[in-house]
Amino acid sequence: MADCLFCRIVAGEIPATVVRESPRILAFRDIAPQAPTHVLVVPRDHHANIAGLVADDPALAIELLQEAHAVAAAERVADAGYRLVFNTGDDAGQTVHHVHAHVLGGQPLGHLA
Ligand code: AMP
Repeated sequence: MADCLFCRIVAGEIPATVVRESPRILAFRDIAPQAPTHVLVVPRDHHANIAGLVADDPALAIELLQEAHAVAAAERVADAGYRLVFNTGDDAGQTVHHVHAHVLGGQPLGHLA
């Protein structure tokens, strides 16, 4: 989608700090990190949110989870613990409507959710 920020990052039109990539997934650092490790993991294909991805391409949803864990391992936060967040819809504060997992770690993250 031409007007989608993360589609434009996937296409290389907007720069990002890529930490991991596979044929169907791209992982890059969040521009406004909320923890020492804050990486966004996105499918290259456009899906608006996790519900749409699971409905349209469940195999890709599984691959997204596998890649998110691989990012946590590569960032060396997997053993200490990390959080995956899929903000979905307005009440969750989703601002970019291209599904993305936030991989957060590197410090105690508190008990919210
Ligand atoms: P959400 O609020 O769940 O939709 O998350 C969107 C995330 O995208 C936020 O954490 C932003 O900081 C992040 N973000 C926005 N623009 C960029 C960008 N150009 N590169 C990397 N991350 C971005």
